[in-house]
Amino acid sequence: TLILAIESSCDETAASVVKNGRTILSNVISSQIELHKLYGGVVPEIASRKHIEKVNQVIEKALKEADVTLDDLDAIGVTYGPGLVGALLVGVAEAKAIAYAKKLPLVGVHHIEGHVSANYIEHPDLEPPFLCLIVSGGHTHLVIVKDYGEFEILGRTRDDAAGEAFDKVARAIGLGYPGGPKIDKLSKEGNPNAIVFPKAKIGDCPYDFSFSGVKSAVLNYLNQAQMKGEDVNRADLAASFQKAVVDVLVEHTMQAAKDYHMDKVAIAGGVASNGTLRAAMEEACQKHGYKFYRPSPIFCTDNAAMIGVAAYYEFKKGTRHGWDLNAVPNLRLGER
Ligand code: ATP
Ligand code: MG
Ligand code: FE
Repeated sequence: TLILAIESSCDETAASVVKNGRTILSNVISSQIELHKLYGGVVPEIASRKHIEKVNQVIEKALKEADVTLDDLDAIGVTYGPGLVGALLVGVAEAKAIAYAKKLPLVGVHHIEGHVSANYIEHPDLEPPFLCLIVSGGHTHLVIVKDYGEFEILGRTRDDAAGEAFDKVARAIGLGYPGGPKIDKLSKEGNPNAIVFPKAKIGDCPYDFSFSGVKSAVLNYLNQAQMKGEDVNRADLAASFQKAVVDVLVEHTMQAAKDYHMDKVAIAGGVASNGTLRAAMEEACQKHGYKFYRPSPIFCTDNAAMIGVAAYYEFKKGTRHGWDLNAVPNLRLGER
């Protein structure tokens, strides 16, 4: 089964050809980061326009690298939510046009189901059920993957997503956009125990997260230093913030694995490429005897390969979308 997948939910225009669900024949990503950097974040209008400019080129390149033509395909997979509506619409319209012209089945994919599915690419032995921590720019979910595309959500963030917290803190300490990778890098030169930040515990749900408290604590720390005219060691600040976030992510994941008797633990989403999170989760899993799975960094941040993998399992289950498929900016996980 050959699937062409298209992803355009945010600021990456991406296309990929995936064979039998787990073999990536091509993975083309055109990132708009340089463009949005100028504004300190993603500008939706600019993102949509850039997707329109790039989408055909990216698809052509993906087909070429995979050494296939549209006639070889069995289905078209596309992210239809969640994400920026104008950005999603570009991918959805493109996927519909190709599917219609080539009389191919159309499979709409949930972007976060894609992030989770990135784990199948390099771990041929991984099959549901397993526990997955999803940490991306807009989502922080702790879920049990019960089956392909079937999720039980155990916990979620009450306020900022993990990636959002990284981006906001990075901006506050003057690192620019996107902040996650910059904090990751700068932290290597800092002492994670230099400053103790609060770890939010949510009384009634042990698996929920909250990151606005630690974000505010960083901002307060910066303000106070400024008022006193003191220099801030940005590397220490970044490392200490990162530790506060990573500690909570690992603690909650380990608690859930224990409570739900899960012996396989995976991570997914852009923040899953964070070096400290990967190392800390690996160590915790080793200690508790759980098998640990994580995608390579290139499959953690937005890409179409993960969408192709998710589309394959949806396709196998019989998921088909009609020509009325629309972008759903706030699509919930597990909805179809
Ligand atoms: P969502 O998937 O929730 O719709 P998104 O697609 O915009 O959001 P992703 O591409 O999955 O988000 O991830 C981007 C996020 O990951 C950004 O917030 C970015 O700062 C963060 N990120 C990327 N690399 C790292 C890293 N090395 N350390 C920490 N955070 C990172
Ligand atoms: Mg992005
Ligand atoms: Fe994403």
